Amino acid sequence: MNDYLTGLNKLPSNQIIEKMATYAKEHKVPIINEEGMGFINQLVKITKPKRILEIGTAIGYSAINMALSYERAFIDTIERDANLASLAIKNIKECNLENRIRVFNEDALKLDLATLHPEYDLIFIDAAKSQYKVFFEKFDNLLISGGIIITDNILFHGLITTPEHIASRNLRQLVRKIGNYNTFLKEHPRYDTTFYNIGDGIAVSIKVK
Ligand code: SAH
Ligand code: MG
Repeated sequence: MNDYLTGLNKLPSNQIIEKMATYAKEHKVPIINEEGMGFINQLVKITKPKRILEIGTAIGYSAINMALSYERAFIDTIERDANLASLAIKNIKECNLENRIRVFNEDALKLDLATLHPEYDLIFIDAAKSQYKVFFEKFDNLLISGGIIITDNILFHGLITTPEHIASRNLRQLVRKIGNYNTFLKEHPRYDTTFYNIGDGIAVSIKVK
């Protein structure tokens, strides 16, 4: 069924995007899968965010997809790994999107908020899963009311519902942290969140006015 839907749902595609997807597969860079990307692209088309902040660039795959989904969007994206950040910058240039996507090669946890724009319409959280709550609370200050926060990997390969089956203690702890984050979102008084079984699990949280 999923293959059938993937066949129906066409993502924006060009040689560079395809090259990026192949590179990610070969080098095990955890970019979002097609199903999740298609969903986020559609959300961007519907909400038309002028400013997007992304935590976790990797090679720029999701940032480029979002930029292509709304031609007036400006994207700031944060990546702590220097090699990935420079690959992202190269890919963004190849797509002629360097005027709309800025890559910050920094640790999002340490980044001075004053170096970013004061207001974003959409924030995409897709960096270290154990720090999701910290990212959320830090960057929430920059989101306009009515804006949305999208969080990726909230089901963590389906492990979220069966943490007791995980042999590795570290992995179990990570999965527990994601579970706590999901509960945090569910109970957040200023956000209205829906959790979707799309891709690796995606949460969409609307900042209530
Ligand atoms: N959004 C990308 C995938 C990001 S993978 C896409 O779907 O195309 C997650 C990335 O977050 C990794 O490249 C990792 O280096 C980065 N990351 C993890 N913790 C981070 C932090 N604290 N600050 C900045 N980047 C971080
Ligand atoms: Mg992800």
